[in-house]
Amino acid sequence: MTHDRARARIDTGAIAHNARVLADAAGSARLMAVVKADGYGHGGLSAARAALEGGAAALGVAAVSEHEELRAGGVEAPIQVLGPLTAGEMARVLAAGGELTLWTAEAAGQAAALGSESAPVPVHLKLDTGMGRLGARAEDTAALAEAAGDPRLRVVGLMTHFATADELDGEHAGFMREQFIRFGNLVRDIGPRFPDAATHAANSAATLRDPRTHLDMVRCGIALYGCSPFMGDPAEHGLVPAMELVTWLASIKRLRSRDSVGYGRTYRASRGTRIGLVPVGYADGYARGLSNTAEVLVGRRRVPVVGTISMDQLTIDLGPEGDEAVGDEVVLIGARGEERILAEDLGRLRGSINYEVTCAVGARVPREAV
Ligand SMILES: *Cc1c(COP(=O)(O)O)cnc(C)c1O
Repeated sequence: MTHDRARARIDTGAIAHNARVLADAAGSARLMAVVKADGYGHGGLSAARAALEGGAAALGVAAVSEHEELRAGGVEAPIQVLGPLTAGEMARVLAAGGELTLWTAEAAGQAAALGSESAPVPVHLKLDTGMGRLGARAEDTAALAEAAGDPRLRVVGLMTHFATADELDGEHAGFMREQFIRFGNLVRDIGPRFPDAATHAANSAATLRDPRTHLDMVRCGIALYGCSPFMGDPAEHGLVPAMELVTWLASIKRLRSRDSVGYGRTYRASRGTRIGLVPVGYADGYARGLSNTAEVLVGRRRVPVVGTISMDQLTIDLGPEGDEAVGDEVVLIGARGEERILAEDLGRLRGSINYEVTCAVGARVPREAV
């Protein structure tokens, strides 16, 4: 390999494959590929193109800048901006041909002011059925529907978002069902006023778990990238991980027994050993919380991360003997031979989820589409 510090190899074919898997699972429902946060760290534009090739009918982003990046890249598919926007940002989304998400009468008024009866503004109405975050509460739904009846708006979607779709058992496992029932009741109340509106609720977890939630469209993010929304093995759902994070062995040195490695001396060699230096640190998204817990692949061998992870570097214990050499490939996420390290593994080790692992991969790490 050429010695970049590190690179994230993105298998766009895997993204297209995963989109196909999800589109198949969705049956007659359309697939919205969620490519916010730079495609969960995979590169927003290339992820969007691959997902569309794999059968996605629409795209979802969180920010106005993400929408503009896709349009600048020539993407013509419908794009919904899922997040909250200022009036100025709404105007920018509409100028670039996007769809808005609204949940207050006030925002509906702002959006309507940007449209006309001959060119109504496409909007999705978001209903809060239990997420407690964005969305109109049940008692505010009638006022929202009233405001959204403005002829300068065209309601193209009625949506909600699940809080616990990823919880297959435990205390909250039944809450998705309850949210779904609440959503159904709200749609029954206001739906007839909006005949052009597609109903949508399911994220990746709901899409894979319960076909009853598919409605007219599903909104999938994490599964598109080949990660399991349940933190299990993506292969169980036919998903293929799309990101490989690779770097190189930049230095090898011998340490004696009791010598320490790195800040705070959190690791002491229990025997004479060889310590390898890898030029990736927490500034690249390899969390400091992985210090002394994670493993990497060198050749086809699992090797422990030892010592405190620094901003730009981490250290691994290669053991007393071996034929590793400076310049060898080191795999932080990916598979070699029988061994693999998934984003799910690193998520668990850092007390988080796979979503955060791929999103965290820093801007300093070039994405290379393969
Ligand atoms: C991010 C997001 C999704 C995608 O969720 P995944 O769990 O990644 O599939 C769907 N809907 C909304 C509103 C989102 O913000």
